Amino acid sequence: MLLRNILCTVILGLVMTTSALADPVIIAHRGASGYLPEHTLEAYTLAHALGADYIEQDVVLTKDGHFICLHDIHLESTTNVEEVFPDRAREDGNWYAIDFTLAEIKTLQAHERLDKRFPKDKSDFEVPTFREAVELIQGLNASRGKDVGIYPELKGPAFHEKEGQPVEEKLLAILAEYGYEGPDANVFVQCFETPPLLRIRKELNSELPLIQLISGNKIQAPLLTDDGLKNVATYANGIGPDKMLLKKYPDLVQRAHDNGLEVHPYTIRRDAVAKPYKNTQSEIKSYFYQLKVDGMFFDFPDDAVRVIRQHAQDAKKEEKSE
Ligand code: CA
Repeated sequence: MLLRNILCTVILGLVMTTSALADPVIIAHRGASGYLPEHTLEAYTLAHALGADYIEQDVVLTKDGHFICLHDIHLESTTNVEEVFPDRAREDGNWYAIDFTLAEIKTLQAHERLDKRFPKDKSDFEVPTFREAVELIQGLNASRGKDVGIYPELKGPAFHEKEGQPVEEKLLAILAEYGYEGPDANVFVQCFETPPLLRIRKELNSELPLIQLISGNKIQAPLLTDDGLKNVATYANGIGPDKMLLKKYPDLVQRAHDNGLEVHPYTIRRDAVAKPYKNTQSEIKSYFYQLKVDGMFFDFPDDAVRVIRQHAQDAKKEEKSE
């Protein structure tokens, strides 16, 4: 019994040391979206080349039931849908992806969302399907000898359900087809809505790693309490909070860890550094090494790669001088 206790302590100690030493994972937010229009195969390719550990896809369905990679449930913020299909907006003035077939969406040009990034009228990008994204990343993994993961977010599952196209089973089926099954699959499935995550874990009995996204919205505040986190831990592997929530609740990472949850906040952007940081490096360092997050979303994933490299070099120097 004593021996077993000692062994347990040693193993636990080892596990804790390894997890304390593990580098935070770098998630490329909508691909390397700081450099190329978000959710294009080009942005995913660059994210792979720049050293991201995971590449994010937001997914919505087309009218004919194909998952495409798109941040919004409508098309006009990142494509030229208004020009190509001027009379296809709904009464609320939005062009919903679910009202268009994949063939129609493939005729659109995707463009940059933000100013002062990739010029909006240059080059030629299209909206990829989720399958195309996965095949690209798996292909690059094979040709580059890497194991970069995917990080799909179900966008608006309640909206899709209302439109008669539930998304959860469909996503799991595609993931399984491409080999993403079980708790060790190189994927995180994320969602702001809780019911789809509950459904994936408890009704569809999937063991895939799941992330409960948490915005600064008051409605989601109960998730941040101790009871809330305890409950999240019954169906998810981690939380993806708005990064500002960690400033508001500096003990959030520790409380999430106490419940066995990983913490992957969003999003760090070199061209929108949050106060009071003087540059993106100091912002990244603060989340990685003071707040001790397990991973984070980046528009410019190479910035995080550089911070981790520098940190390792500094640690080596310290070791030598000791
Ligand atoms: Ca997302």
